[in-house]
Amino acid sequence: MDMYGILTADRDLARADFGDVTHVFADSVDGTRREPLAGVANSIACWGDTATVRDEPERAAVTADGTRATPDADGHHWGTVCPTDPDYRAALLERIERVGAMGDVRLTTPGFPGASFCHCERCDREFAASDHEERDAWRTAVITDFIAAAAECVEGDLLATLYPDPYPGNLRERAGVDPGSLAPFVDEFVVPLCDVGYGTTYWVESLARGFAHELEDLELDLTIQLSADGVDADRLVGLTQQLEAHADTIVYGTYPDDAETVRDVIRRVREADTPALTV
Ligand SMILES: [Zn+2]
Repeated sequence: MDMYGILTADRDLARADFGDVTHVFADSVDGTRREPLAGVANSIACWGDTATVRDEPERAAVTADGTRATPDADGHHWGTVCPTDPDYRAALLERIERVGAMGDVRLTTPGFPGASFCHCERCDREFAASDHEERDAWRTAVITDFIAAAAECVEGDLLATLYPDPYPGNLRERAGVDPGSLAPFVDEFVVPLCDVGYGTTYWVESLARGFAHELEDLELDLTIQLSADGVDADRLVGLTQQLEAHADTIVYGTYPDDAETVRDVIRRVREADTPALTV
């Protein structure tokens, strides 16, 4: 039996009864901070923080050729602080502890913001002083250590969001994220597979299948996040049914305008899950 739920920034939707699980944005990548809610998985952006990077550009992760991880940089949609910034790391863990005292925590944007990050002086120095000969191994250790520390701070389950690339080794190369290394500290991985309208859906099924395959030896649940914005209910029901073999939970990114559609979708997929009773 699969589980269904929503991801939302809307407080009223978060308190409404939609399904089995609710993910709520507490800290977003734009730097917005909201009061966490009880009884939900509060989502915290790790180093994605446009507001901090705008105010203190020198804290952004940087490539060897000096490109900073800001929203203006090619391929970046938000600013990203360097994951070895010690003050930021300490404040982030404090925040995770405060939010984690209320229950489950979902971490978003855990990791370096791309394969060529970070080459700030501190990262170069820490890598040189480390036991690692390969930079990717060092980056992976930095992220794994952080997730291990975060897990200590959370009373409920710890969920980690993965960039939607299941190709073996790619997450490690991109972000310093190795699902196998994180598995001892994490209860669940969340993979966003979002699109405007889902004009085609084969890629959603392919990526979900890829993750299910990559993660199958780990004792972890897999949640797939879909967007509901402007998608009709029939399409979302069909897409959900394509994914059910690969995921334990489906959450729908939900704005107030999509609420009725999502309610309808969850009702229909649940009905389809329940075998008809024969008298
Ligand atoms: Zn750095």
